[in-house]
Amino acid sequence: MEIRFEQTKNPKAKPTDESKLGFGHIFTDHMFAMNYDAGQGWHDARIVPYGEISLSPASMCLHYGQEIFEGLKAYRTADGTVQLFRPDENYKRMNVSAARMVIPAIDEEFMVEATKKLIEIEKDWVPHTDGASLYIRPFIFATDPYVGVKPADHYLFLIILSPSGPYYSTGLDPVKIYVEQKYVRAVRGGTGFAKTAANYAISLKGQDEAHEQDYEQVLWLDGVEQKYIEEVGSMNIFFVIDGEVITPELTGSVLPGITRKSALEVCKSKGIKATERRITIQEVADAYDAGKLDEVFGTGTAAVISPVGHLKWGDKVMTINDNKIGPISQMLYDTMTGIQWGKIEDTFGWTVKI
Ligand SMILES: *Cc1c(COP(=O)(O)O)cnc(C)c1O
Repeated sequence: MEIRFEQTKNPKAKPTDESKLGFGHIFTDHMFAMNYDAGQGWHDARIVPYGEISLSPASMCLHYGQEIFEGLKAYRTADGTVQLFRPDENYKRMNVSAARMVIPAIDEEFMVEATKKLIEIEKDWVPHTDGASLYIRPFIFATDPYVGVKPADHYLFLIILSPSGPYYSTGLDPVKIYVEQKYVRAVRGGTGFAKTAANYAISLKGQDEAHEQDYEQVLWLDGVEQKYIEEVGSMNIFFVIDGEVITPELTGSVLPGITRKSALEVCKSKGIKATERRITIQEVADAYDAGKLDEVFGTGTAAVISPVGHLKWGDKVMTINDNKIGPISQMLYDTMTGIQWGKIEDTFGWTVKI
């Protein structure tokens, strides 16, 4: 499929102070768009000026939430090249999400090429500051003007880009996490493994109550017994117990993070024992009491590695590794960000140059 290009007539001024970028507020000059119509398939791929879109108030996505998304980043290396990190994995996962939400599949290779073309056009928007990057948000939603419940016949696929500041402005500060015991995020047979807006909508209430108690994020337990650990809701979770790296296995209610997968591969390449299995919150608490809970960290595209300093489960507050980043978390952070920003050799073949 050809990609039509319509250049903006009103380019915006680029942010001058990259230390104030924050996350997700600023958008670049262009976006990618493509339509799906039943009978015609995906068509009219185009890169057009970033701007408002018009939708019927009856658009199905607004009523029943048929939407999926992805999140990845473009990194500027020291020699000025811009690169992506495992973009093929994002589009592969997008098709898994699409299948669950009855959204028509996309051509994964074409989407990697379309993303590269969009970044090529917008490459001056990729920040120069160490740790800053260009966040890439592909998403698909149902646009049929119809308020009945059924899979839609019409969809819009957009990719928007947002220059974002370093996740950690003052070093790798450990986060405070609260183990959710009232609400659940995903259940067996549900949509936990899909990257869909609905999973986020239902997580807001727990997040809100955690914030009231001065905790930054929620650790979700399984939706049936609230016994087994699942994930943080925007990050996967890892524990280091007695030297072994453990992360919950993918049982269908956990999002298969690309950072999670990469962290497991890095551990294995360094000869560190890394296991995917079911793990209960009780086992974590017992390991803590026995002095064997060495490290806890989250993984996700935004933070890469996010050390957990405090974990609160009911009345029990566990302070992990003296509220400091541990050696395995630090090694994973250095290795993965080193590859992403081109500071160390990518022996895994994960980066894709623009
Ligand atoms: C995106 C996401 C993650 C992290 O996935 P990465 O591919 O590592 O960025 C974890 N959990 C949920 C629910 C997510 O949506």
